Amino acid sequence: MHRHVDNKWKTLIFEDMTTRAFSRHDAVLNEVTSSASFQDMLSNVASLDCTLIVPSTAHKRAALVTLTRQTTGRKPPEIYTLATYAQYIVRERSTENLRLLNTADASLILRYAARSAGLRLGSIDFSIHRLLRWKSEGITRDELLEKSADEFAPRHVRVLDGFVRIWSAYELSKGPKGADRVDVLVKAARLVLEAPKVADRRFVVWCPHTFTRAEAALVRAIGVHGSVAIVWAPSSDAQLVNERTSDMIGWGWENVGGEDTGHSSDDAVTRHKSIRVFRESTRVEEVRRILLAIKQAVSSGGINVRDICIITPGSSEYRRQLQERATRAGIPLAVDPQRTLHTSGVALALRAACDVVGGAWKRADLERLLRSGFVMADSTNAGALLHAATAHRVQGGQGFDGWKQKLSSRREVLRIVHERDEEIDRGIRRTLAVLDEALRTLAWLRLILGDDDRSIKGAAYTQMLTAFLERLGIARTAVHLEKIALSENLPCVEREALVAIEALSERYAVLTSDVDMPLMTIAEHTREWWELVRATKVRTPDVLLDGIPILTPEEARGRMWKLVLAPGFVEGEFPLHEHDPLEAEVLPESALRKQRAAFEDIIHATSIDGHLVVTYPKEVDDSDVLPSSFLRGLDIEPHDEATFFLDAYERTAHTGTGLRDVKGRQRAALPEANEAVVQSTAEADESAVLSSGSAALVQYVADIVNRPLSASRLDVVAACPYKFYASTILRLDVEHTTDDTLSGLERGSMMHEIVRQFYERVRGRSYRTITTTEELLDARVELEDIRRHEYMGILLDVYMSVAPLYDTDHTYAETERRSLLGGPDGPSMLGTPQRPGLLYRWLAHEIAQQSKSAMRPALFEYELDVVVGGEAIRGRVDRIDVAPYQFDDGHNGVQFAVVDYKTTKASAPSAKSVMLGEATQMPLYLTAVHAEFLKHGIEAIPAQAIYRTFGRSLKTVEDPKDLAVLANPSEELMQNLFNTINEHVKDMRASSYPVAPRPKACDRCGFQEVCRVASWGTVQRT
Ligand code: SF4
Repeated sequence: MHRHVDNKWKTLIFEDMTTRAFSRHDAVLNEVTSSASFQDMLSNVASLDCTLIVPSTAHKRAALVTLTRQTTGRKPPEIYTLATYAQYIVRERSTENLRLLNTADASLILRYAARSAGLRLGSIDFSIHRLLRWKSEGITRDELLEKSADEFAPRHVRVLDGFVRIWSAYELSKGPKGADRVDVLVKAARLVLEAPKVADRRFVVWCPHTFTRAEAALVRAIGVHGSVAIVWAPSSDAQLVNERTSDMIGWGWENVGGEDTGHSSDDAVTRHKSIRVFRESTRVEEVRRILLAIKQAVSSGGINVRDICIITPGSSEYRRQLQERATRAGIPLAVDPQRTLHTSGVALALRAACDVVGGAWKRADLERLLRSGFVMADSTNAGALLHAATAHRVQGGQGFDGWKQKLSSRREVLRIVHERDEEIDRGIRRTLAVLDEALRTLAWLRLILGDDDRSIKGAAYTQMLTAFLERLGIARTAVHLEKIALSENLPCVEREALVAIEALSERYAVLTSDVDMPLMTIAEHTREWWELVRATKVRTPDVLLDGIPILTPEEARGRMWKLVLAPGFVEGEFPLHEHDPLEAEVLPESALRKQRAAFEDIIHATSIDGHLVVTYPKEVDDSDVLPSSFLRGLDIEPHDEATFFLDAYERTAHTGTGLRDVKGRQRAALPEANEAVVQSTAEADESAVLSSGSAALVQYVADIVNRPLSASRLDVVAACPYKFYASTILRLDVEHTTDDTLSGLERGSMMHEIVRQFYERVRGRSYRTITTTEELLDARVELEDIRRHEYMGILLDVYMSVAPLYDTDHTYAETERRSLLGGPDGPSMLGTPQRPGLLYRWLAHEIAQQSKSAMRPALFEYELDVVVGGEAIRGRVDRIDVAPYQFDDGHNGVQFAVVDYKTTKASAPSAKSVMLGEATQMPLYLTAVHAEFLKHGIEAIPAQAIYRTFGRSLKTVEDPKDLAVLANPSEELMQNLFNTINEHVKDMRASSYPVAPRPKACDRCGFQEVCRVASWGTVQRT
């Protein structure tokens, strides 16, 4: 081939390639050998009774479409690739009952052979591809051994020796019945030679680049009895062609084309092809450039979509990017009618199920299975299990029992928390229900999946796969999806995938039985089986053949388009540099020759006077890259980005609407056109109004807001009505879980339980109800400093019995334990006065407080259920301390204090917020306890409300503290506070929940995304 460059026009001019062909016996085929193009050749063969051999299945598809149109009413020629033709011959004519192995099957056998030879394929860089490549070129094991003896360095000797051992084990495992693709070619050649049929009469072999020795054997065999015309690809290697066909010539084949050197003759028709090379900044820009070129070419009217092709010689990333962006750009691409099985939902769900069992029930695997959308069962709730796993930090990996133990223990903890919680609607009941559902779903999965990664035979593994498909509902889902897709006229590959998976699983059973594969664990089987899945393709129903095809150079070989676009001319990707000295030694130059042929295939895919647009990026993954050395050979300067095409395409500046974070709903920056939309959105967001809803909705809201008053709900309303709406009415969840530590709720619950049990152990009994003043005073617990050591022992005992319920495997469990017990002497001493733990400090604080006051703890976790001013109040008070009190008229009563435990001072409301009515808990409790006592005829006056902190860690020495928020409150103050509470109650029942947070409320709220306060500001409170 000669080429030169016209610098003025940046046009590369190619001289014609000589078509060379060989035929025998049959002059009719001579005409075919002079075909100028793929389409010409198809026209010529359409009227012939012949078999057509093409380089790839892409050629086969294209040829089928054309020939079916041209041979209406007649049988079109049979079309095969050389490999599929060989399979056809073996299937049709062999009496040996052979098992045809595809590359994935052969690879499975090779891996098994390597294991049985005590070697690993990866460690010596041996693969089925290398083996088949060598085998197809006639390299034998003896040759390898000879090479190792003659020429190789010690490392290569070891490697080659390993190859030979594995290769021998492979042939042994495969046995005489197993036939890989090279065996199939050789057997087909023998069958054709030994038992020719009428169908072997006339063949056209279109555009081979070269033949391997095994392929050459088959073609030669066909030519012994029949007529064959070979039209070599323009990119074929003349020297290799001569080498592979010289013996054919000797047998009487003839060269009917030009010279057999492959170079053009002087009178060849000169073809003018323009090549434009573009350097773009990134791969994405290359793709945009290509789409732009297509749009311009088509809109110019000069080129039809059918005359355009995209060839991707390098990274597969271009194919993905093109498919993604072409649809958006309105450019039809021919959709690849095949898809790898492992990308189907059915395969992914089944793989996840296998991984769950093989990986000891890891959460990630279980999530993949349950989120696949293919698990179908009426009585289970996958969502609940997933939610529970996230909320309760289950990581899995300890089998089914690990899950069960973790979720059950969490359920137990929450049950206790729920018993103590003053709130009945705080979500705990719902969480418990979710946990119940999760445990049920877990049991169901256990029934189907089993629990142990047992060692089994391939056949048993296949049975397991079938059971998973059926019992998990994966098969039903696939069928169901197909039905829906059909009714909606949408493409769906899942039914095909199901059939392929079933067939493939059966094949796996047979293969493992044929090679007598030993027992393997489920994880090991899954790895092997998945390799087969990855190598299997399924047909997709969304075939679109009329669009622009995206092809590899081999798929484009021997075909022509007016506009060819080829991205990815990056050195290292195309040509791909694989430094493989062994391959270079065994099959010299084969890799380089293949790459060069690919380049020539691209060049020759452009028709006479056509255009080839080649692109490459300046950088990939933020690193500079070099253009392909093939381009340097062309000697063409890349065009500057701005020189060609309309750069305005896709580069028009987009002016956004510019929503600004504005307080008070200023929207000055919004353009006119968006105003109406924004207005309606804003109004919808401004306030959630429920009174105009359906009767059911109104009732639903009424049920919530008319429940007995609870402090935490009122505090939310006081903080922001919209927050109440989001959390309590919409029941939106904001996850605050952490894997690292106990949650605030858990820690609080644990400490409450420890305190309650400690005091009840010291007192020797527990009181749930109190009916008289005497009984109440009797219930008080007095701590004595001299018994401190005894108390510490009790505290330790109580801690030891309570902690296991909460002592989960979070990251800092041990740190938390230390912070409570102190150190370094550990639990036996509950710390020391020098290194006191939080429990030690708490006890010291309790004793100290008792020495300063007559108040003594009497009631713990006390349930309130009273009516005050017509409003029911319900809740649970952490602790009520009481002291005897004598009223002015001389009769006896009690003075009481309400104590609420907090972890740290920061988590307690301030006295100011209590006085402002923003934190309603203490006023509400003081009022309710007062009413509760009165209900039992106990006269009492509120003395104070106290937040008592426990502290959180040893590092921050925060000794337990008291934060008195209401000391000796007057009746008037209590009435005022209750009036404020009533205002909140009204807000709660107003059926209108504006975004009106009190200052700093948003800092601790997780609903910003919902209320969009950042965008729209707040409604000012009046
Ligand atoms: S983020 Fe602020 S405005 Fe929004 S719901 Fe929460 S408290 Fe209310």
